Amino acid sequence: MVTRRAVLTAALAWTVPGSAGPRLPSEARGLWESGVTFAYGARSLAVGHHAPATLLRDLAARADAAGRTVSAVLRRPVRPVVVVPASTGEAAALAGTGSLEGLAALASRGRVIVVPGAFARLTPVGRDVVLAHELTHVAAGTHGRPVWLREGFADYVGYLGSGLEVGVAAAELAEEVGSGRTSARLPADGDFTPGAPRLAQVYQESWLACRLIAGRYGERALVDLYDRAAGRDLAEALRPLGLSVPTLTGLWREYVRDELTAGGHG
Ligand SMILES: [Zn+2]
Repeated sequence: MVTRRAVLTAALAWTVPGSAGPRLPSEARGLWESGVTFAYGARSLAVGHHAPATLLRDLAARADAAGRTVSAVLRRPVRPVVVVPASTGEAAALAGTGSLEGLAALASRGRVIVVPGAFARLTPVGRDVVLAHELTHVAAGTHGRPVWLREGFADYVGYLGSGLEVGVAAAELAEEVGSGRTSARLPADGDFTPGAPRLAQVYQESWLACRLIAGRYGERALVDLYDRAAGRDLAEALRPLGLSVPTLTGLWREYVRDELTAGGHG
């Protein structure tokens, strides 16, 4: 719709309540009693609690870009909603969780919740990667998949177009591989416990497993696998690709070594 687009692409920001300006978007209702601010992107909405207009406009623009990436991979429209609480405590309360340690953003009930302090410490590229990662969780769903597939898939989308070298994005894993260590198995769900000693590495291993599948069989095959794996045994979900879990594991170990070893074709 032309009129709507002309207004929305300007990524204007408003604070409510007030007599001027548009009504509070339905997505923003019931979040906080006062101090609600918001900005529209071309397709996205950023809602904050006492968040400055510049921050909301920046987030709406980044959410638009993340939304385009996620939408291109999933091949369906995505309308990102990003929520910016005033503090980490507010973010935890909104997400209904106790601790957000180590998180810059998270997916919750159809929205991406930004953890303000941690998010602000990210590089601009890091912010884009995190938004696309969380938006993938929101748009593709997470239920019923092994954690490595869910996190690897979100990182696969997150790092698309980031321009980051594999050895940079997977620096911690590259260091392990460089000293001759490679995991014998794909990450287990328990490896993702907050504070786990190899947390960075298991995310990177998961990312590379999904990147391998997309590189070898095509991005569409990765998306189909992700869809098939919901509530189904991984072995069964892999079968249409002609893969068993041990075969995938073998290919992945080789891929990790190749991608992360100096002189590899990363
Ligand atoms: Zn995630």
